[in-house]
Amino acid sequence: MTSSTHTRTAVVTGAARGIGAGVARRLADDGFAVAVLDLDEDAGKPLVAEIEQAGGRALAVGVDVSDEQAVQAGVQRVAEQLGAPTVLVNNAGVTRDNLLFKMGADDWDAVLNVHLRGAFLMSRATQRYMTEAGWGRIVNISSTAALGNRGQANYSTAKAGLQGFTKTLAIELGKFGVTANAIAPGFIQTDMTRATAERMGITFEDFVKGASKQIPVARVGQPEDIAHLVSFLTSEGAGFVSGQVIYAAGGPVD
Ligand code: NAP
Repeated sequence: MTSSTHTRTAVVTGAARGIGAGVARRLADDGFAVAVLDLDEDAGKPLVAEIEQAGGRALAVGVDVSDEQAVQAGVQRVAEQLGAPTVLVNNAGVTRDNLLFKMGADDWDAVLNVHLRGAFLMSRATQRYMTEAGWGRIVNISSTAALGNRGQANYSTAKAGLQGFTKTLAIELGKFGVTANAIAPGFIQTDMTRATAERMGITFEDFVKGASKQIPVARVGQPEDIAHLVSFLTSEGAGFVSGQVIYAAGGPVD
């Protein structure tokens, strides 16, 4: 059986809600068996039920992506229960915003650990299934914050780091049929941006309205906007696109 004739398995981290949930839903629609990986296994179960009800295959897996043992065990469970994972979307993320002079070392470590150590551990654990299959797709969720963002020294560093990580994976894994790309979203309407509005002391509605005015397409993004791009990058036909950072922000960024 060639790799294109059987169901492929995709792992999406931080998939219980937000962008990750949108991506998991879309990959299930695209025909992938999907591992809904998140900190809290129970949080992923409603999405798994939804995917199964629509005729797809999915599995909720509780894993802290920054925990080496948990990643090993979680990825092995995915391989045994769903199939060898040949698509990985590193989406799990947290923010611990503060101006530099007020930022604690714990806030720095927490953000770098989830985004960077997490993407590293997940990519390392899944690449062996991809190289064995001679086919794979890794998509890392970066951010426009990689270009610099007030109050996010930790987060912007992690998101810029993910871009370098992506390019190196593309160089190392290309000869095995594995591509690696990064998506750098702008403002996407999720709990993460809702929490930012709360921290700023404004309503989410006003925050979204204000942001929309700054965006050329005159709206903020939705998880589906990012899911659509992940769908392309994980498709069969995208095999010659690798090591790229694609900004999805409703307009150009610099
Ligand atoms: P979200 O709604 O906060 O969802 C993030 C998910 O990641 C949550 O389900 C969370 O679980 C999970 N998670 C956090 N730490 C984890 C860990 N150590 N291991 C496993 N899962 C973990 O965020 P989002 O807005 O969808 O963002 C998704 C990704 O896109 C993030 O990488 C974010 O940085 C990036 N991004 C977002 C935006 C935006 O505007 N929203 C823009 C650019 C980039 P819990 O619920 O248990 O905490």
